[in-house]
Amino acid sequence: MTKFWIISDVAETSYELLGKARELLGDQEGIITVYLIGNETTGQEAIGYGADLVKLMELPPDTTWEQYAPVLVQEAQASQPEMILVGATRRGKDLAAQLAALLDSPCVTECKSIEYDDGKVILKRIIYGGLAEKIIECCQFPVIATVASRTFEKWTAKDASREGTIEKLDLPAGVNVQVVERRSKPQEVVNIKDASIVVGVGRGFSEQDELKMAEELAKVLGGEVACSRPIAEDLHWLPEDRYIGISGQIIKPNVYIAAGISGQVQHVYGIRDAKTIIAIDKNENAPIFQVADYYIVGDLKEVLPALTEAVKEVKAANKG
Ligand SMILES: Cc1cc2nc3c(=O)[nH]c(=O)nc-3n(C[C@H](O)[C@H](O)[C@H](O)COP(=O)(O)OP(=O)(O)OC[C@H]3O[C@@H](n4cnc5c(N)ncnc54)[C@H](O)[C@@H]3O)c2cc1C
Repeated sequence: MTKFWIISDVAETSYELLGKARELLGDQEGIITVYLIGNETTGQEAIGYGADLVKLMELPPDTTWEQYAPVLVQEAQASQPEMILVGATRRGKDLAAQLAALLDSPCVTECKSIEYDDGKVILKRIIYGGLAEKIIECCQFPVIATVASRTFEKWTAKDASREGTIEKLDLPAGVNVQVVERRSKPQEVVNIKDASIVVGVGRGFSEQDELKMAEELAKVLGGEVACSRPIAEDLHWLPEDRYIGISGQIIKPNVYIAAGISGQVQHVYGIRDAKTIIAIDKNENAPIFQVADYYIVGDLKEVLPALTEAVKEVKAANKG
C-alpha cells in the first residue's frame, strides 16, 4: 500500500499538499497521513481535503517545532512512507533537512512538480535563479520534498463528511533546544497572495512618492500593491513580504498589472499563473511584454493616472 506523508506548520499549505498527494495516489490503495499544527477542527478540515490520518502537533512555547524530528523519524521507520512532502516554510525547511539526514533519505527542496510512478519519484525544481529547470529522479524511499505554498491546488473534491482518524503527536522528551525569547515580526495586514487584482511596481518608479499612483489604481480596482525585489530589498519602499518572484511571493491573481517592471525571469516566475497580465513600460522591448496579455508602451507617470481615471469613469457610469 502506498503511504504518503505531509508535514507543515501552516495548515493551508498542508491542504494544498494533500491535493497533490491525492492526485498522485489516484485510484491506488494508499494512506495519506498529515502532520500539522492545529486542533480538532484543523484536523477535520485536513480530512475533508483528503487526509486519512491526522497527527496534531503543537508549536511548543519553550522549544522549536523542529524538535519533533526524532519522533517523526521513529514514525517513519515504523510506517515506511514512500514520500514525505514538507511545506517549505522556514520551520519546514529545517525539519525536512533534519529528517533527510536522520533517515538517510534524498531531500529535494522547493519542488515545483512531483510525479510518482511506483518505482520512482520524478521531481522538478528551478535552478540558476529561475533560468533553468532541473529534473530529479529518486528511487530511494522515503523521498523528502519541500514545496512552497500555492505551488499546488487544494483537492477539489473536498468533502466535510469524509472520515479519518485524528491523533495527537507528543513532543519527545529531552529536547535540546531551549527558546529563551520570541519576538514577533511586524506583520503586514495585507495578504497579496489572496488579492484578485495586484498592481506590481518596479524600478521604473524613480522615487517612493510615485508609488501613490500605483496605490491609487489598486484602490479603485479593489486590489493590492506588490513589487519587484529591488523595490523591497534594495530601496525598502515596500515590505519584503510584498515582493513577487522566485525568491519572494508566488501569486495567482485574476489580474496582475506590472508597472515599470522589466520582466526578468525571477520576477515572472511569481506571476506566470496570473490569469491576465497587463504590463506598462516605456521600453517597447521590455521582456515583460513577452508574457503580458495586454501591454502599454508608455511612461507610467502618464499611464497610471490615466488608467485610474478611466476606471473611475467606468465605475461612475455603471452607478448612474
Ligand atoms: C537569484 C536571484 C533571485 C531573484 N529573485 C527575484 C524575485 O524573486 N523577484 C524579483 O522581482 N526579482 C528577483 N531578482 C532580481 C531580478 O533579476 C531583477 O533584477 C529584478 O526583477 C528587476 O526589477 P525591476 O523590473 O523592478 O527593475 P528593472 O529591471 O530595472 O526594470 C525597470 C523597468 O522600468 C522601465 N521604466 C523605467 N522608467 C519608466 C517609466 N517612467 N515608465 C514606464 N517604465 C519605466 C524600464 O524600461 C525597465 O523595463 C532575483 C535575482 C537573482 C539573481
